[in-house]
Amino acid sequence: MKDYNSILQELENSGNLRRLPEIVHKGNLVEKGGLTMLNLSSNDYLGLASRRDLQQAFLEEWQEKQYPFSSSSSRLLTGNFRIYTELEQVIAERFNREATLLFNSGYHANTGILPALADKQTLILADKLVHASIIDGILLSNAPFQRFRHNDYDQLETLLQKNTGQYEQIFIVTESIFSMDGDVADLRRLVSLKKSYPDVCLYVDEAHAIGVRGKNGLGIAEEQDCIQEIDLLVGTFGKALASMGAYVICSRVIREYLINCMRPLIFSTALPPAQIAWTQFIFERLPEFSEERERLATTSHLLIDALSGKGGEISGSHIIPYIIGDNKDCILKAEELQRKGFYCLPVRPPTVPKGTARIRFSLTADVTTEDIQQLIQAL
Ligand code: PMP
Repeated sequence: MKDYNSILQELENSGNLRRLPEIVHKGNLVEKGGLTMLNLSSNDYLGLASRRDLQQAFLEEWQEKQYPFSSSSSRLLTGNFRIYTELEQVIAERFNREATLLFNSGYHANTGILPALADKQTLILADKLVHASIIDGILLSNAPFQRFRHNDYDQLETLLQKNTGQYEQIFIVTESIFSMDGDVADLRRLVSLKKSYPDVCLYVDEAHAIGVRGKNGLGIAEEQDCIQEIDLLVGTFGKALASMGAYVICSRVIREYLINCMRPLIFSTALPPAQIAWTQFIFERLPEFSEERERLATTSHLLIDALSGKGGEISGSHIIPYIIGDNKDCILKAEELQRKGFYCLPVRPPTVPKGTARIRFSLTADVTTEDIQQLIQAL
């Protein structure tokens, strides 16, 4: 066997060793190593994960319907409970689109969709900063790919011009809110680019925007009024929706094709029906959470302004980077803030580019303006 221990030691020496933190959750607080801290690292963007009222109301519904805690099978065998297709219909109707397909997680979605749809005759053009799950999907697809500079649509257009007609199809792949920089893609510009060239398909991951943005919480595509023009609109339930799983909104044909060819869907046990029911319970209520969305926007602007000149200005959302640069300095700063009562985490390469180690503030609707003012003081 390789000497894995010395590799771990090297990681430790370069400040890159990862450990699973032992933490206890208490609403929007976490307890770790005797410290109680405000959680500034959660993806529970609307603050729904600890809402007892929602949990109680769901459990009452559960008492009646008794959704099982395991599907015991892939959906293609015996795991296709009716609640799955119900939720797919609810989502498709809400987005006013033809079809939706559910997956066990965003990771399953992103590592499954592109390998199913793309081949050697497909060129994938992906934003340089797309999430690791999308990169893995691109690599698994074996399709030729190029990455354009982050949000640089002029470069993307050059690539489209150069490659149009050389492939059967071209996929443009982006996130809507980027997970590490918190900046926002110009989806309308991407739609217009896609329409200017033949056989171009647009794939957008809204993991960090679903629930948080748009009048009804349907994401940046709703905010930028282009839901109908995005071929593959992916979102996840593990963040603002306080659940687990993911979806793609697409055409009926693509849905059927994915059911036939997408390996993470075919070869994995489906999520428990009880989980799907909880997702549906929250998804149906998304339009009601506009106050949470407004509160989140207010606190986000406050912190973005305060961190302007220190990396914060990159952000256009509730994900706000504070760029430190060096790995060890970043760890020390995060530890200092933790001692002051703010649970924030260092994000280091390879998750972010070398030399841009950062503290990634990820705000939630249950963080107050006063909390942010105190954080700013501490910084
Ligand atoms: N897409 C993006 C943009 C993400 O940031 C993440 C995870 N943070 C995922 C997909 C994966 O989603 P999940 O956690 O549901 O696997």
